[in-house]
Amino acid sequence: MDDNAFREAATASIEEIINYYATLGQRPVVSTVEPGYLRKLLPDAAPEKGEAWEAIRRDVEDKIVPGITHWQSPNFFAFFPCPSTYPSILGELYSATFAAAAFNWICSPAVTELETVVLDWLAQLLGLPEEYLSTGPTRGGGVIHGTASEAVMTMMTAAADKYLRAVLAADHAGFDALSEEEQEDLRAARRSRLVALGGGTAHTSAKKAAQVLGLRYRSVPAAASNGFRINGDGLRETLAKVRAAGLEPFFLSTTFGTTDTCAVDDYVSIAAVLEADRDAQVAAGRDATASDIWVHVDGAYAGSALVAPETRASMCPAPSDPSDPNSAPIGTAILRRFHSFNMNMHKWLLVNFDCSCVFVRDRRWLVNALGADAHYYRNDYSDGGLVTDYRDWQLPLGRRFRSLKVWFVLRTYGGEGLREYIRRSISLGERFAAGLTNRPDLFEIITGPRFALTVFRAAPLTPDEPREVTSARTRRLCELVNGGGKIWVTGTTLDGDMAAIRVMTGNFSTHKEHVDGASKIFVET
Ligand code: PLP
Repeated sequence: MDDNAFREAATASIEEIINYYATLGQRPVVSTVEPGYLRKLLPDAAPEKGEAWEAIRRDVEDKIVPGITHWQSPNFFAFFPCPSTYPSILGELYSATFAAAAFNWICSPAVTELETVVLDWLAQLLGLPEEYLSTGPTRGGGVIHGTASEAVMTMMTAAADKYLRAVLAADHAGFDALSEEEQEDLRAARRSRLVALGGGTAHTSAKKAAQVLGLRYRSVPAAASNGFRINGDGLRETLAKVRAAGLEPFFLSTTFGTTDTCAVDDYVSIAAVLEADRDAQVAAGRDATASDIWVHVDGAYAGSALVAPETRASMCPAPSDPSDPNSAPIGTAILRRFHSFNMNMHKWLLVNFDCSCVFVRDRRWLVNALGADAHYYRNDYSDGGLVTDYRDWQLPLGRRFRSLKVWFVLRTYGGEGLREYIRRSISLGERFAAGLTNRPDLFEIITGPRFALTVFRAAPLTPDEPREVTSARTRRLCELVNGGGKIWVTGTTLDGDMAAIRVMTGNFSTHKEHVDGASKIFVET
Protein backbone atom coordinates (compact mmCIF):
# COMPACT_ATOMS: atom_id res chain seq x y z
CA MET A 1 0.00 0.00 0.00
CA ASP A 2 1.64 3.25 -1.07
CA ASP A 3 1.04 6.74 0.34
CA ASN A 4 -1.79 7.58 -2.00
CA ALA A 5 -3.56 4.29 -1.49
CA PHE A 6 -3.20 4.71 2.28
CA ARG A 7 -4.58 8.25 2.14
CA GLU A 8 -7.60 7.09 0.17
CA ALA A 9 -8.22 4.02 2.31
CA ALA A 10 -7.75 5.87 5.59
CA THR A 11 -10.05 8.73 4.59
CA ALA A 12 -12.77 6.30 3.57
CA SER A 13 -12.26 4.26 6.75
CA ILE A 14 -12.68 7.33 8.93
CA GLU A 15 -15.99 8.09 7.19
CA GLU A 16 -17.09 4.51 7.78
CA ILE A 17 -16.15 4.66 11.43
CA ILE A 18 -18.14 7.88 11.90
CA ASN A 19 -21.10 6.31 10.15
CA TYR A 20 -20.78 3.18 12.30
CA TYR A 21 -21.03 5.24 15.49
CA ALA A 22 -23.92 7.27 14.09
CA THR A 23 -25.96 4.12 13.42
CA LEU A 24 -25.06 2.14 16.54
CA GLY A 25 -28.37 2.76 18.27
CA GLN A 26 -30.27 1.14 15.42
CA ARG A 27 -28.26 -2.09 15.38
CA PRO A 28 -29.15 -5.17 17.45
CA VAL A 29 -26.62 -5.12 20.30
CA VAL A 30 -25.55 -8.75 20.23
CA SER A 31 -24.31 -10.53 17.14
CA THR A 32 -26.66 -13.31 16.01
CA VAL A 33 -24.17 -15.34 13.97
CA GLU A 34 -23.76 -19.05 14.66
CA PRO A 35 -20.46 -20.48 15.95
CA GLY A 36 -18.05 -21.11 13.06
CA TYR A 37 -19.83 -18.66 10.74
CA LEU A 38 -16.62 -16.97 9.65
CA ARG A 39 -14.69 -20.05 8.56
CA LYS A 40 -17.44 -20.74 6.05
CA LEU A 41 -17.05 -17.25 4.61
CA LEU A 42 -13.26 -17.07 4.37
CA PRO A 43 -10.86 -19.04 2.13
CA ASP A 44 -8.94 -21.96 3.64
CA ALA A 45 -5.58 -20.26 3.20
CA ALA A 46 -4.10 -16.76 3.01
CA PRO A 47 -4.11 -15.32 -0.53
CA GLU A 48 -1.01 -15.95 -2.59
CA LYS A 49 -1.30 -12.60 -4.35
CA GLY A 50 -1.98 -9.35 -2.52
CA GLU A 51 -5.50 -7.97 -2.81
CA ALA A 52 -6.84 -4.48 -3.36
CA TRP A 53 -7.93 -2.56 -0.26
CA GLU A 54 -11.42 -2.20 -1.67
CA ALA A 55 -11.92 -5.98 -1.55
CA ILE A 56 -10.63 -6.14 2.02
CA ARG A 57 -12.81 -3.20 3.09
CA ARG A 58 -15.93 -4.79 1.61
CA ASP A 59 -15.26 -7.95 3.61
CA VAL A 60 -15.10 -5.94 6.84
CA GLU A 61 -18.62 -4.75 6.15
CA ASP A 62 -20.01 -8.06 4.85
CA LYS A 63 -18.20 -10.63 6.95
CA ILE A 64 -16.81 -9.01 10.09
CA VAL A 65 -19.49 -6.51 11.15
CA PRO A 66 -22.21 -9.22 11.35
CA GLY A 67 -20.01 -10.99 13.91
CA ILE A 68 -19.53 -7.88 16.04
CA THR A 69 -21.39 -7.39 19.33
CA HIS A 70 -21.72 -3.65 19.63
CA TRP A 71 -20.16 -2.74 22.98
CA GLN A 72 -20.37 0.96 22.08
CA SER A 73 -24.14 0.75 21.57
CA PRO A 74 -26.25 3.00 23.82
CA ASN A 75 -28.28 -0.13 24.53
CA PHE A 76 -25.32 -2.11 25.84
CA PHE A 77 -25.96 -2.52 29.59
CA ALA A 78 -23.93 -5.70 30.11
CA PHE A 79 -20.72 -6.43 32.07
CA PHE A 80 -18.76 -3.20 32.45
CA PRO A 81 -18.21 -0.72 29.62
CA CYS A 82 -15.29 -0.97 27.22
CA PRO A 83 -15.21 2.57 25.85
CA SER A 84 -14.03 3.95 22.60
CA THR A 85 -13.73 7.66 21.89
CA TYR A 86 -12.36 9.60 18.95
CA PRO A 87 -9.33 11.04 20.76
CA SER A 88 -8.48 7.57 21.98
CA ILE A 89 -8.80 6.13 18.47
CA LEU A 90 -6.45 8.86 17.28
CA GLY A 91 -4.05 7.88 20.05
CA GLU A 92 -4.11 4.30 18.75
CA LEU A 93 -3.45 5.54 15.22
CA TYR A 94 -0.37 7.53 16.23
CA SER A 95 0.79 4.75 18.51
CA ALA A 96 0.62 2.32 15.58
CA THR A 97 2.55 4.83 13.50
CA PHE A 98 5.39 5.20 16.00
CA ALA A 99 5.41 1.43 16.56
CA ALA A 100 8.24 0.38 18.82
CA ALA A 101 8.89 -2.14 21.58
CA ALA A 102 9.76 0.74 23.87
CA PHE A 103 11.04 -1.23 26.85
CA ASN A 104 13.86 1.19 27.77
CA TRP A 105 13.83 4.97 27.96
CA ILE A 106 16.27 5.23 25.04
CA CYS A 107 14.01 3.04 22.89
CA SER A 108 11.82 6.17 22.54
CA PRO A 109 12.20 8.67 25.38
CA ALA A 110 8.77 10.21 24.70
CA VAL A 111 7.06 6.85 25.27
CA THR A 112 8.46 6.61 28.78
CA GLU A 113 8.29 10.27 29.73
CA LEU A 114 4.72 10.83 28.55
CA GLU A 115 3.60 7.77 30.52
CA THR A 116 5.16 9.09 33.71
CA VAL A 117 3.60 12.52 33.23
CA VAL A 118 0.08 11.36 32.35
CA LEU A 119 -0.02 8.83 35.16
CA ASP A 120 0.90 11.56 37.61
CA TRP A 121 -1.91 13.66 36.11
CA LEU A 122 -4.28 10.74 36.48
CA ALA A 123 -3.23 10.03 40.07
CA GLN A 124 -4.06 13.65 40.89
CA LEU A 125 -7.40 13.50 39.08
CA LEU A 126 -8.29 10.37 41.06
CA GLY A 127 -7.28 11.97 44.34
CA LEU A 128 -4.65 9.32 45.11
CA PRO A 129 -2.26 10.12 47.97
CA GLU A 130 0.99 11.73 46.82
CA GLU A 131 2.81 8.49 47.69
CA TYR A 132 1.47 7.10 44.40
CA LEU A 133 2.97 9.88 42.28
CA SER A 134 6.40 9.56 40.68
CA THR A 135 7.30 12.83 42.39
CA GLY A 136 5.98 11.69 45.78
CA PRO A 137 7.94 11.10 48.98
CA THR A 138 8.10 7.27 48.78
CA ARG A 139 9.38 6.73 45.21
CA GLY A 140 5.96 5.71 43.99
CA GLY A 141 4.60 5.95 40.51
CA GLY A 142 2.28 4.58 37.89
CA VAL A 143 2.66 2.35 34.87
CA ILE A 144 0.26 1.27 32.14
CA HIS A 145 -0.37 -2.44 31.87
CA GLY A 146 -2.63 -4.18 29.39
CA THR A 147 -5.24 -5.44 31.83
CA ALA A 148 -6.16 -5.56 35.50
CA SER A 149 -5.36 -9.28 35.40
CA GLU A 150 -1.80 -8.49 34.38
CA ALA A 151 -1.70 -5.82 37.10
CA VAL A 152 -2.71 -8.17 39.93
CA MET A 153 -0.27 -10.84 38.75
CA THR A 154 2.52 -8.28 38.61
CA MET A 155 1.71 -6.95 42.08
CA MET A 156 1.56 -10.49 43.46
CA THR A 157 4.96 -11.22 41.91
CA ALA A 158 6.44 -8.10 43.50
CA ALA A 159 4.80 -8.88 46.84
CA ALA A 160 6.19 -12.43 46.87
CA ASP A 161 9.65 -11.07 46.07
CA LYS A 162 9.42 -8.40 48.78
CA TYR A 163 8.30 -11.01 51.30
CA LEU A 164 10.92 -13.62 50.39
CA ARG A 165 13.81 -11.15 50.39
CA ALA A 166 12.88 -9.99 53.87
CA VAL A 167 12.06 -13.33 55.42
CA LEU A 168 15.07 -15.16 54.00
CA ALA A 169 17.48 -12.44 55.05
CA ALA A 170 15.97 -12.52 58.54
CA ASP A 171 15.88 -16.30 58.94
CA HIS A 172 19.19 -17.26 57.29
CA ALA A 173 22.26 -15.50 58.62
CA GLY A 174 24.58 -14.66 55.71
CA PHE A 175 21.85 -15.20 53.10
CA ASP A 176 23.28 -12.49 50.85
CA ALA A 177 26.67 -14.19 50.80
CA LEU A 178 25.25 -17.51 49.55
CA SER A 179 25.68 -18.53 45.94
CA GLU A 180 22.88 -17.74 43.49
CA GLU A 181 21.88 -21.39 43.40
CA GLU A 182 21.81 -21.73 47.18
CA GLN A 183 19.64 -18.63 47.40
CA GLU A 184 17.36 -20.03 44.68
CA ASP A 185 16.93 -23.29 46.58
CA LEU A 186 16.02 -21.50 49.79
CA ARG A 187 13.60 -19.29 47.89
CA ALA A 188 11.95 -22.25 46.20
CA ALA A 189 11.54 -24.11 49.49
CA ARG A 190 10.05 -21.07 51.21
CA ARG A 191 7.74 -20.25 48.29
CA SER A 192 5.91 -23.49 48.90
CA ARG A 193 4.62 -22.02 52.19
CA LEU A 194 3.34 -18.77 50.71
CA VAL A 195 -0.36 -18.10 50.44
CA ALA A 196 -2.03 -15.21 48.62
CA LEU A 197 -5.39 -14.03 49.96
CA GLY A 198 -8.25 -12.47 48.05
CA GLY A 199 -11.79 -11.41 48.76
CA GLY A 200 -14.49 -14.03 48.23
CA THR A 201 -16.00 -11.70 45.62
CA ALA A 202 -12.66 -10.60 44.12
CA HIS A 203 -12.28 -10.95 40.37
CA THR A 204 -11.14 -14.35 39.08
CA SER A 205 -7.84 -12.79 38.03
CA ALA A 206 -6.55 -12.79 41.64
CA LYS A 207 -6.84 -16.56 41.96
CA LYS A 208 -5.51 -17.06 38.45
CA ALA A 209 -2.45 -14.96 39.29
CA ALA A 210 -1.67 -17.27 42.22
CA GLN A 211 -2.20 -20.33 40.02
CA VAL A 212 0.17 -19.04 37.37
CA LEU A 213 2.77 -18.13 39.99
CA GLY A 214 2.47 -21.58 41.56
CA LEU A 215 1.26 -20.17 44.88
CA ARG A 216 -1.57 -21.13 47.18
CA TYR A 217 -4.67 -18.95 47.23
CA ARG A 218 -7.33 -18.64 49.93
CA SER A 219 -10.53 -16.59 49.89
CA VAL A 220 -11.60 -14.26 52.66
CA PRO A 221 -15.38 -14.66 53.11
CA ALA A 222 -17.56 -11.95 51.55
CA ALA A 223 -21.02 -12.97 52.72
CA ALA A 224 -24.31 -11.58 51.41
CA SER A 225 -25.08 -10.52 54.99
CA ASN A 226 -21.99 -8.32 54.83
CA GLY A 227 -22.88 -6.75 51.48
CA PHE A 228 -20.72 -9.14 49.40
CA ARG A 229 -17.53 -7.52 50.68
CA ILE A 230 -14.73 -8.55 52.96
CA ASN A 231 -14.09 -7.01 56.35
CA GLY A 232 -11.60 -7.18 59.18
CA ASP A 233 -13.36 -10.02 61.02
CA GLY A 234 -13.28 -12.33 58.01
CA LEU A 235 -9.67 -11.39 57.34
CA ARG A 236 -8.66 -12.05 60.95
CA GLU A 237 -10.23 -15.52 60.80
CA THR A 238 -8.59 -16.31 57.48
CA LEU A 239 -5.17 -15.20 58.73
CA ALA A 240 -5.54 -17.37 61.82
CA LYS A 241 -6.60 -20.35 59.71
CA VAL A 242 -3.76 -20.16 57.21
CA ARG A 243 -1.16 -19.58 59.91
CA ALA A 244 -2.49 -22.57 61.87
CA ALA A 245 -1.89 -24.62 58.72
CA GLY A 246 1.74 -23.49 58.65
CA LEU A 247 1.24 -21.15 55.69
CA GLU A 248 2.66 -17.66 55.30
CA PRO A 249 0.29 -14.94 54.03
CA PHE A 250 2.07 -12.24 52.08
CA PHE A 251 -0.55 -10.64 49.80
CA LEU A 252 -4.20 -9.61 49.93
CA SER A 253 -6.20 -8.63 46.87
CA THR A 254 -9.09 -6.37 47.82
CA THR A 255 -11.68 -4.80 45.57
CA PHE A 256 -12.99 -1.29 45.14
CA GLY A 257 -16.08 -2.17 43.10
CA THR A 258 -16.50 -5.93 42.72
CA THR A 259 -17.50 -7.36 39.36
CA ASP A 260 -20.86 -8.75 40.46
CA THR A 261 -22.23 -5.92 42.60
CA CYS A 262 -19.65 -3.11 42.75
CA ALA A 263 -19.19 -3.79 46.48
CA VAL A 264 -16.34 -1.99 48.21
CA ASP A 265 -14.34 -3.94 50.76
CA ASP A 266 -14.40 -2.57 54.29
CA TYR A 267 -11.02 -0.87 54.21
CA VAL A 268 -11.01 0.62 57.69
CA SER A 269 -11.47 -2.70 59.43
CA ILE A 270 -9.08 -4.42 56.99
CA ALA A 271 -6.36 -1.84 57.72
CA ALA A 272 -6.94 -2.16 61.48
CA VAL A 273 -6.69 -5.97 61.41
CA LEU A 274 -3.53 -5.86 59.31
CA GLU A 275 -1.93 -3.36 61.63
CA ALA A 276 -2.70 -5.50 64.68
CA ASP A 277 -1.50 -8.60 62.82
CA ARG A 278 1.79 -6.94 61.91
CA ASP A 279 2.35 -5.81 65.48
CA ALA A 280 1.62 -9.32 66.76
CA GLN A 281 4.02 -10.88 64.26
CA VAL A 282 6.77 -8.45 65.12
CA ALA A 283 6.18 -8.98 68.84
CA ALA A 284 6.59 -12.72 68.18
CA GLY A 285 10.05 -11.98 66.73
CA ARG A 286 9.22 -12.02 63.00
CA ASP A 287 10.70 -9.60 60.51
CA ALA A 288 8.79 -6.29 60.26
CA THR A 289 9.00 -6.00 56.45
CA ALA A 290 7.84 -9.58 55.93
CA SER A 291 5.00 -9.00 58.40
CA ASP A 292 3.71 -6.11 56.29
CA ILE A 293 1.21 -7.99 54.10
CA TRP A 294 0.97 -6.35 50.67
CA VAL A 295 -2.52 -5.00 50.03
CA HIS A 296 -3.56 -4.50 46.43
CA VAL A 297 -6.69 -2.43 45.77
CA ASP A 298 -8.34 -3.54 42.54
CA GLY A 299 -10.48 -0.68 41.28
CA ALA A 300 -10.55 -2.00 37.72
CA TYR A 301 -13.99 -0.54 37.01
CA ALA A 302 -15.08 1.69 39.89
CA GLY A 303 -11.64 3.29 40.26
CA SER A 304 -12.57 5.66 37.43
CA ALA A 305 -15.37 7.11 39.55
CA LEU A 306 -12.75 8.66 41.82
CA VAL A 307 -12.32 11.54 39.35
CA ALA A 308 -15.54 12.84 40.94
CA PRO A 309 -14.46 13.86 44.47
CA GLU A 310 -17.85 13.06 46.02
CA THR A 311 -17.29 9.33 45.26
CA ARG A 312 -14.03 9.12 47.25
CA ALA A 313 -15.74 8.72 50.61
CA SER A 314 -17.07 5.38 49.32
CA MET A 315 -13.53 3.99 49.46
CA CYS A 316 -13.40 4.68 53.17
CA PRO A 317 -16.33 6.51 54.79
CA ALA A 318 -14.81 6.47 58.30
CA PRO A 319 -14.01 9.93 59.74
CA SER A 320 -10.39 10.99 59.30
CA ASP A 321 -10.28 12.11 62.93
CA PRO A 322 -11.56 9.25 65.11
CA SER A 323 -12.34 11.72 67.94
CA ASP A 324 -14.52 13.80 65.62
CA PRO A 325 -17.25 11.83 63.84
CA ASN A 326 -17.99 14.91 61.72
CA SER A 327 -14.49 15.17 60.29
CA ALA A 328 -14.01 14.51 56.56
CA PRO A 329 -14.10 10.82 55.53
CA ILE A 330 -10.73 9.11 55.10
CA GLY A 331 -11.59 8.38 51.45
CA THR A 332 -8.65 7.64 49.16
CA ALA A 333 -6.16 8.59 51.91
CA ILE A 334 -6.59 4.98 53.14
CA LEU A 335 -4.38 3.97 50.19
CA ARG A 336 -1.41 5.34 52.16
CA ARG A 337 -1.71 2.26 54.35
CA PHE A 338 -1.72 -0.11 51.35
CA HIS A 339 0.72 -0.95 48.59
CA SER A 340 -0.82 -0.79 45.13
CA PHE A 341 -3.93 0.34 43.29
CA ASN A 342 -5.15 -0.18 39.77
CA MET A 343 -7.98 1.07 37.62
CA ASN A 344 -8.79 0.45 33.98
CA MET A 345 -9.25 3.59 31.94
CA HIS A 346 -10.45 1.08 29.35
CA LYS A 347 -13.46 0.29 31.52
CA TRP A 348 -14.91 3.63 32.52
CA LEU A 349 -12.64 6.51 31.55
CA LEU A 350 -13.02 6.84 27.81
CA VAL A 351 -9.75 5.20 26.73
CA ASN A 352 -9.87 2.27 24.31
CA PHE A 353 -8.89 -1.19 25.46
CA ASP A 354 -6.18 -1.79 26.61
CA CYS A 355 -5.19 0.60 29.35
CA SER A 356 -4.91 -0.60 32.93
CA CYS A 357 -3.22 2.02 35.10
CA VAL A 358 -1.34 0.62 38.06
CA PHE A 359 0.11 2.70 40.86
CA VAL A 360 2.56 1.60 43.55
CA ARG A 361 3.71 3.32 46.68
CA ASP A 362 7.33 2.30 46.10
CA ARG A 363 8.51 1.50 42.58
CA ARG A 364 11.61 -0.24 43.89
CA TRP A 365 9.41 -3.21 44.85
CA LEU A 366 8.68 -3.70 41.14
CA VAL A 367 12.22 -3.17 39.94
CA ASN A 368 13.62 -5.53 42.60
CA ALA A 369 11.24 -8.28 41.52
CA LEU A 370 11.10 -7.75 37.78
CA GLY A 371 14.34 -6.02 36.84
CA ALA A 372 15.83 -7.75 33.82
CA ASP A 373 19.46 -7.38 32.90
CA ALA A 374 21.26 -8.37 29.73
CA HIS A 375 24.05 -6.88 27.62
CA TYR A 376 21.64 -5.94 24.89
CA TYR A 377 19.54 -3.75 27.22
CA ARG A 378 22.48 -1.73 28.44
CA ASN A 379 22.95 1.94 27.62
CA ASP A 380 24.47 4.94 29.35
CA TYR A 381 21.12 6.38 30.40
CA SER A 382 19.95 3.20 32.12
CA ASP A 383 23.36 2.55 33.64
CA GLY A 384 23.46 6.12 34.90
CA GLY A 385 20.21 5.57 36.80
CA LEU A 386 18.72 8.79 35.45
CA VAL A 387 15.81 7.29 33.58
CA THR A 388 12.86 4.99 34.07
CA ASP A 389 12.95 1.74 32.13
CA TYR A 390 9.40 0.48 32.29
CA ARG A 391 10.49 -3.02 31.23
CA ASP A 392 11.32 -3.48 34.93
CA TRP A 393 7.77 -2.58 36.07
CA GLN A 394 5.88 -5.22 34.11
CA LEU A 395 5.80 -8.87 32.99
CA PRO A 396 6.46 -8.45 29.24
CA LEU A 397 9.57 -6.79 27.89
CA GLY A 398 8.20 -4.73 24.98
CA ARG A 399 5.47 -2.19 25.44
CA ARG A 400 3.11 -0.10 23.36
CA PHE A 401 2.82 3.67 23.31
CA ARG A 402 -0.42 3.60 25.30
CA SER A 403 0.10 6.89 27.08
CA LEU A 404 -0.65 8.80 23.86
CA LYS A 405 -4.31 7.83 23.96
CA VAL A 406 -4.45 8.68 27.67
CA TRP A 407 -2.92 12.08 26.93
CA PHE A 408 -5.34 12.73 24.08
CA VAL A 409 -8.35 11.77 26.21
CA LEU A 410 -7.27 13.75 29.28
CA ARG A 411 -6.65 16.84 27.13
CA THR A 412 -9.77 16.53 25.00
CA TYR A 413 -12.25 16.07 27.85
CA GLY A 414 -10.30 17.64 30.70
CA GLY A 415 -10.99 16.83 34.34
CA GLU A 416 -14.31 18.61 33.99
CA GLY A 417 -15.47 16.49 31.05
CA LEU A 418 -14.46 13.27 32.78
CA ARG A 419 -16.28 14.21 35.98
CA GLU A 420 -19.36 15.14 33.99
CA TYR A 421 -19.33 11.78 32.21
CA ILE A 422 -18.92 9.77 35.42
CA ARG A 423 -21.69 11.75 37.11
CA ARG A 424 -23.97 11.21 34.12
CA SER A 425 -23.33 7.43 34.23
CA ILE A 426 -24.11 7.37 37.96
CA SER A 427 -27.28 9.42 37.63
CA LEU A 428 -28.46 7.22 34.75
CA GLY A 429 -28.00 4.26 37.11
CA GLU A 430 -30.18 6.03 39.67
CA ARG A 431 -32.78 6.72 36.99
CA PHE A 432 -32.83 3.07 35.92
CA ALA A 433 -33.13 1.87 39.53
CA ALA A 434 -35.99 4.33 40.13
CA GLY A 435 -37.82 2.69 37.23
CA LEU A 436 -37.56 -0.62 39.11
CA THR A 437 -38.46 0.68 42.55
CA ASN A 438 -41.63 2.14 41.02
CA ARG A 439 -42.71 -1.45 40.41
CA PRO A 440 -42.07 -3.35 43.66
CA ASP A 441 -44.63 -5.89 42.46
CA LEU A 442 -42.22 -6.87 39.64
CA PHE A 443 -38.67 -6.22 40.83
CA GLU A 444 -36.52 -6.38 43.93
CA ILE A 445 -33.26 -4.47 44.00
CA ILE A 446 -30.46 -6.50 45.55
CA THR A 447 -27.66 -3.91 45.48
CA GLY A 448 -27.19 -0.42 44.14
CA PRO A 449 -27.53 1.65 42.22
CA ARG A 450 -23.81 1.97 42.91
CA PHE A 451 -21.24 3.26 40.43
CA ALA A 452 -23.84 3.08 37.63
CA LEU A 453 -24.59 -0.58 38.38
CA THR A 454 -27.96 -1.86 39.55
CA VAL A 455 -28.35 -5.49 40.57
CA PHE A 456 -31.86 -6.85 40.94
CA ARG A 457 -34.10 -9.86 40.54
CA ALA A 458 -37.71 -10.65 39.83
CA ALA A 459 -39.71 -9.90 42.97
CA PRO A 460 -40.81 -12.98 44.93
CA LEU A 461 -44.54 -13.41 44.36
CA THR A 462 -45.11 -14.34 48.01
CA PRO A 463 -42.97 -13.57 51.05
CA ASP A 464 -42.09 -17.25 51.44
CA GLU A 465 -41.52 -18.09 47.78
CA PRO A 466 -38.56 -20.52 47.63
CA ARG A 467 -35.41 -18.87 46.32
CA GLU A 468 -35.07 -21.31 43.42
CA VAL A 469 -38.50 -20.31 42.12
CA THR A 470 -37.63 -16.61 42.20
CA SER A 471 -34.28 -17.44 40.62
CA ALA A 472 -35.90 -19.42 37.80
CA ARG A 473 -38.19 -16.47 37.04
CA THR A 474 -35.24 -14.05 37.18
CA ARG A 475 -33.23 -16.17 34.75
CA ARG A 476 -36.19 -16.41 32.39
CA LEU A 477 -36.63 -12.63 32.52
CA CYS A 478 -32.96 -12.13 31.67
CA GLU A 479 -33.14 -14.62 28.78
CA LEU A 480 -36.27 -13.00 27.34
CA VAL A 481 -34.88 -9.49 27.58
CA ASN A 482 -31.58 -10.45 25.96
CA GLY A 483 -33.37 -12.62 23.41
CA GLY A 484 -35.39 -9.58 22.31
CA GLY A 485 -32.17 -8.14 20.87
CA LYS A 486 -32.89 -4.50 21.77
CA ILE A 487 -30.69 -4.32 24.85
CA TRP A 488 -28.06 -6.54 26.41
CA VAL A 489 -27.70 -7.14 30.17
CA THR A 490 -25.75 -9.64 32.27
CA GLY A 491 -27.20 -12.41 34.39
CA THR A 492 -25.30 -13.59 37.43
CA THR A 493 -25.70 -15.66 40.59
CA LEU A 494 -25.08 -14.24 44.05
CA ASP A 495 -24.81 -15.88 47.43
CA GLY A 496 -24.55 -19.37 45.94
CA ASP A 497 -27.97 -19.67 44.32
CA MET A 498 -29.68 -16.29 44.01
CA ALA A 499 -30.08 -15.42 40.33
CA ALA A 500 -29.68 -11.73 39.62
CA ILE A 501 -29.52 -9.31 36.71
CA ARG A 502 -26.87 -6.61 36.37
CA VAL A 503 -27.62 -3.43 34.48
CA MET A 504 -24.71 -1.06 33.91
CA THR A 505 -25.43 2.45 32.62
CA GLY A 506 -21.87 3.65 32.02
CA ASN A 507 -21.64 3.62 28.23
CA PHE A 508 -20.57 6.94 26.73
CA SER A 509 -23.37 6.79 24.17
CA THR A 510 -26.10 5.94 26.70
CA HIS A 511 -28.56 8.70 27.61
CA LYS A 512 -31.85 9.05 29.48
CA GLU A 513 -33.98 7.78 26.61
CA HIS A 514 -31.97 4.54 26.38
CA VAL A 515 -32.22 3.93 30.12
CA ASP A 516 -35.95 4.64 30.08
CA GLY A 517 -36.26 2.28 27.13
CA ALA A 518 -34.44 -0.42 29.10
CA SER A 519 -36.75 -0.01 32.13
CA LYS A 520 -39.76 -0.24 29.82
CA ILE A 521 -38.47 -3.45 28.25
CA PHE A 522 -38.05 -5.01 31.69
CA VAL A 523 -41.54 -3.98 32.80
CA GLU A 524 -43.18 -5.20 29.60
CA THR A 525 -41.23 -8.46 29.61
N1 PLP B 1 -10.99 -6.70 38.42
C1 PLP B 1 -12.29 -6.40 38.42
C2 PLP B 1 -12.93 -5.86 39.66
C3 PLP B 1 -13.05 -6.59 37.27
O1 PLP B 1 -14.36 -6.30 37.28
C4 PLP B 1 -12.42 -7.09 36.10
C5 PLP B 1 -13.18 -7.30 34.87
O2 PLP B 1 -14.35 -7.01 34.77
C6 PLP B 1 -11.05 -7.38 36.17
C7 PLP B 1 -10.37 -7.19 37.35
C8 PLP B 1 -10.32 -7.92 34.98
O3 PLP B 1 -10.13 -6.93 34.03
P1 PLP B 1 -9.14 -7.09 32.82
O4 PLP B 1 -9.95 -7.53 31.65
O5 PLP B 1 -8.55 -5.73 32.62
O6 PLP B 1 -8.12 -8.10 33.19
